[in-house]
Amino acid sequence: MGDDLRRVVRGPVVAAGEDGFDAARRAWNLAVEQRVSAVVEVADTEDAAAVVRYAGRAGLAVSTRATGHTPTAAADGTVLVTTGAMNGVEIDPEARLARVQAGARWGDVVTESARHGLVGAVGSSPVVGVTGYTLGGGVGWFARSHGQAANLVRALDVVTGDGNRVRVNADSEPELFWALRGGGGDYALVTALEFELFDAGALFGGRVLWPAERAEAVMAAFREATAEAAEGLSIWLTLIQFPPFPTVPEFLRGQSMVAVDVLAQGDVTGPLRRFDEIPGAVLDTRRGLDPTGIGGICMEPEDPSPARVRGELLTEFTTAVGDSLLATAARNGSVYPLALVQVRHLGGALTRPPADAGVAGGISEPYLLSLLGPAPSPQHAAAVLERRAEIATELSIYTSGRKPFTYLDSGDTPADAFAPATLDRLRDIKRRNDPQEIFRSNFPVAEPLTELDRAVLDAPA
Ligand SMILES: Cc1cc2nc3c(=O)[nH]c(=O)nc-3n(C[C@H](O)[C@H](O)[C@H](O)COP(=O)(O)OP(=O)(O)OC[C@H]3O[C@@H](n4cnc5c(N)ncnc54)[C@H](O)[C@@H]3O)c2cc1C
Repeated sequence: MGDDLRRVVRGPVVAAGEDGFDAARRAWNLAVEQRVSAVVEVADTEDAAAVVRYAGRAGLAVSTRATGHTPTAAADGTVLVTTGAMNGVEIDPEARLARVQAGARWGDVVTESARHGLVGAVGSSPVVGVTGYTLGGGVGWFARSHGQAANLVRALDVVTGDGNRVRVNADSEPELFWALRGGGGDYALVTALEFELFDAGALFGGRVLWPAERAEAVMAAFREATAEAAEGLSIWLTLIQFPPFPTVPEFLRGQSMVAVDVLAQGDVTGPLRRFDEIPGAVLDTRRGLDPTGIGGICMEPEDPSPARVRGELLTEFTTAVGDSLLATAARNGSVYPLALVQVRHLGGALTRPPADAGVAGGISEPYLLSLLGPAPSPQHAAAVLERRAEIATELSIYTSGRKPFTYLDSGDTPADAFAPATLDRLRDIKRRNDPQEIFRSNFPVAEPLTELDRAVLDAPA
């Protein structure tokens, strides 16, 4: 297969068994090993189309990776297309649009847009890929003021299942446009996206960190501050168990802490005074920020790491919810084996999706809970999954049962993100645009084709 692929593309190809295969298939998130059949680093759009046409002829499936922040075993057996070499970013300051190639990371976009005083719907990490994040909705720092990233997309350039290059927007391909804005990457191979930017304005943000003993007081302040926060103010609370790694500052290694991460657009910082009243902070990085400083607020690791994350949408964050999280931590000595238990305040623009929104739609739940644990071995992963399940069960009366698509993890399916009727519509779009099921996203909407389906498809017309 390696030689066949090398004949049709210009970018490097490494097939299973060839030198460099393990390095080529490794995702950013090291917790999941993907047993793909070959890796093609596409050089350009023509390469991307050539792989899809080859896969169609050979009866193969194609998975796609920008960075590999959410790899799953759904890619097993596929030809993995990596887009990292296609990372161009163009900013049109007059139109306030970014045009980015499929392999760009959020840090690439923020650096370019900041030159014009503009910013996009960036999330917590500068090394997350724009494409996977945006195709899955994307709940970031500006979600309360501008909604999900997917709903800011104006057009996408894609390769369709028949290997054609198509520009998808509200006029040309409305159904595909709707599905790609929140429903993941199961319908086409995206080569570029165009999306809206907005004025960065005067930003203020950073992290305040206290020893875990202050968690109850910090949670109370978080509840009060989020109740009165304007839409330009985002506040996230995180219980943290810092690992004893050399990458962590020495005074934090192995420590249990509670953090408040904030980003304020303009003069909306009033509610933050509640946190200033809590003594004992060991770190306070809050300051006036350039957009390029946003990616550092949460101090997330930028190098590849093994992690498992579970997302849950909370219907409230009352004292009872906070107490439940603290009780689990107290019972077990700390949040370990999790590293992070994070609650993000949502609301604002997320509750008012635009009339022309993609399937990402809106989010009515007021808080997002994420439970992240390092999983460098199957034993660590099992402990992380067990603790996540314990917390989710205890909080089940406070969760809606729905998860944002970008917070799905191995073992979840799109049915965890979408209502049955929505999933039916996505499946119909998948069938019409990719009848051969060439594209295989990390969370496929389609059930795999049966032998009978394949026989019907392969039968001469
Ligand atoms: C440290 C960290 C921080 C995060 N912060 C946030 C956050 O603040 N908000 C949030 O909403 N999410 C966040 N996430 C989740 C993140 O949005 C998902 O992991 C997302 O999938 C990352 O996109 P990617 O392109 O980097 O990942 P990849 O794993 O490369 O891609 C994920 C999936 O997207 C699809 N895809 C990628 N490229 C293409 C393409 N060219 N064509 C078609 N399909 C494609 C594929 O189905 C692929 O499996 C975070 C994750 C991590 C690990």
